[in-house]
Amino acid sequence: MEANAGSILAPVNYSDDNVAKPLENQPVNFYSLTLEDLKAYIKSKGKEQFRAQQIFKWVYEQRVTDPEQMTNLSKEFRQDLPAILSFELPPVLQHLKSVDGTQKFLFDMKDGMSVEAVVIPSEDRLTLCISSEVGCNMACKFCFTGKQKLKRRLRTEDIVGQFMQVHDRLAEGQRITNIVFMGMGEPLDNPEAVFKTIDVIHSPWGINLSRKKITVSTSGIVPEMWRVADAKVRLAVSLNGPNDEIRSQVMPINKRWDTKTLLEACKEHYRVSKDKITFEYVLLKGITDQLEHARQLVKLVKDVPCKINIIPFNEHPGSGYERPDDDTIQAFHTELMNLGAHVLLRRSMGRDIFAACGQLTTVKERPQTMDISNSRLAGLPKYKRELLAAQEAEQNNQQ
Ligand code: SAH
Ligand code: SF4
Repeated sequence: MEANAGSILAPVNYSDDNVAKPLENQPVNFYSLTLEDLKAYIKSKGKEQFRAQQIFKWVYEQRVTDPEQMTNLSKEFRQDLPAILSFELPPVLQHLKSVDGTQKFLFDMKDGMSVEAVVIPSEDRLTLCISSEVGCNMACKFCFTGKQKLKRRLRTEDIVGQFMQVHDRLAEGQRITNIVFMGMGEPLDNPEAVFKTIDVIHSPWGINLSRKKITVSTSGIVPEMWRVADAKVRLAVSLNGPNDEIRSQVMPINKRWDTKTLLEACKEHYRVSKDKITFEYVLLKGITDQLEHARQLVKLVKDVPCKINIIPFNEHPGSGYERPDDDTIQAFHTELMNLGAHVLLRRSMGRDIFAACGQLTTVKERPQTMDISNSRLAGLPKYKRELLAAQEAEQNNQQ
């Protein structure tokens, strides 16, 4: 991206030691390829390049992956296809459904590794939250994934594969409308695979989802942030602290790229993309949830056109943190609104099946389900809380 020349957004080289490589003489996984990749690949196998377009149409438009059913390919090509291309998807090991309609999928990534993806329904959307890495090295103190150190960066086919597996299991007439890279891992720590996946997701020859429906969330790997504007997708930044002292305490990455550097990069992102940034802010009881923090937060982001998503902390075993009570959450929300911030209080979906933000992990000790009855109202808008409280009171009176 030219816009970052000479700015703080300088490129970083990543070693791909943690990326599993395809075996030689094995068929290439179709879901790892862009249209250009497939054209070049089948050309190298002595086949006509225009066949690539036909195969893409079968797979992404028709969901046909059996070469025998790809009737516009020659008989000879159909016979040769299994030796050069595989259409394997990561097997689904587990599929859980929350009381609120959220669904969580556990995928087998081979070598004993697995990742999770979550589907979150709302009135007019069906959002898929996908993983980019097995574990994460950013070590944010409040995050369950962060406890599981990076085991492997996912390949393109592993990430596209999560989408296709979920897509293939949706009820008739349903479709995924939004994708967020907010599952396991730090997407900008695995940029090659993540941005190739994004190419497959938004391209008309691929999944064909609008770029504006795709969001990359980062803990703030500043030198890689230019890629988000370059791909013309949306940027979310996990801020989680109202100043350097608190942010460094909960997010070690802040010691590498502090809030000043991060917010400069955000400003630059806006300058290039003209797209508002979403700041995510996790409310940790007694640590980031005070009214003074709300004021500092508004000051911190004042030069960046943005919206703030406040996410009450989602519990996980041994975290050492607590979720603030409903009144504290509400007061924080109100303070931000009074200060003129564009703010959204994220309702934590899927907490009962450990599918909410920061609860994804594939360590074995993790419980499968959780009792959330003690904080059922947290995250609901005030009018809904009052409505539910009134209904409850009425029921109690009738008993
Ligand atoms: N690595 C990326 C994306 C995955 S984390 C990132 O950090 O942005 C997705 C979001 O979940 C982040 O905003 C993160 O701050 C938030 N999060 C992590 N642990 C959480 C927890 N226990 N409760 C609530 N939100 C959490
Ligand atoms: Fe990694 Fe994001 Fe969790 Fe931090 S919050 S440990 S960056 S997944």
